[in-house]
Amino acid sequence: MKINVLTLFPDMFTPLQTSMLGRGLEDNKWQLNLVNFRDFTSDVHHHVDDSPYGGGAGMVLQIMPIKKALASLKNKGKVIITAPQGKIFNQKVAQNWSHEENLTFICGHYEGFDQRVYDMADEVVSIGDYVLTGGELPTMSMIDATVRLIPGILGNAASPVDESFAQGLLEYPQYTRPEEFEGMKVPEVLVSGNHQKIAEWRRKEALRVTYLKRPDLLQNYEFTDREKKMLAEIKQEEDRT
Ligand code: SAM
Repeated sequence: MKINVLTLFPDMFTPLQTSMLGRGLEDNKWQLNLVNFRDFTSDVHHHVDDSPYGGGAGMVLQIMPIKKALASLKNKGKVIITAPQGKIFNQKVAQNWSHEENLTFICGHYEGFDQRVYDMADEVVSIGDYVLTGGELPTMSMIDATVRLIPGILGNAASPVDESFAQGLLEYPQYTRPEEFEGMKVPEVLVSGNHQKIAEWRRKEALRVTYLKRPDLLQNYEFTDREKKMLAEIKQEEDRT
């Protein structure tokens, strides 16, 4: 996958070049093309913004440098604008994007974009109901969530399958050595060696964590008969505590 990012601050993108994503870049499993759209201005001062028509605080990003920067790209793929008014990004979106060959993100700054910039987008996406200074951090989060789903990026190919949101639930509790710490023991089933029981326990605990922390996720979850029973048990168990 090749990802283009139109930004005024390409230096901010070093986090994507470290750890597993960094190794993926080195191994050419994905490519990152950072484009500073200030390079596509024609005036001597390289202005990318101007004051808003109608007055008001702050500066608005102009359409021309962004349009020219986009036109310079060979393969744009899906064009994504980062904006607080976009649809909320989630794991499902990351899963869909991870199958794309090309993606292009446009990072806003200052007061955001001239409204006509939105006409160039296939999708307008937000990372949550809060306002950041620029689109760089949202873009990095979305790229990280997407690229780590490309086969071969993570060390253990199974890990994105089991984790939170991948199957509509939060992740079950995880433990590692020591088996007992200050009186707190690892659940017995996990050291039993019985893989079927471990899988059952994990599914039930994933349901429990989701029921307790994010019950909203269960509204759209398609339960198997076994899971329906598990949830009924969980409700009884939790009522007792
Ligand atoms: N004036 C805009 C508004 O009220 O919606 C906010 C502009 S914000 C200060 C500057 C840029 O940061 C935006 O153009 C966008 O690219 C990015 N940004 C800020 N918060 C974001 C969020 N929650 N999700 C995605 N992008 C965001």
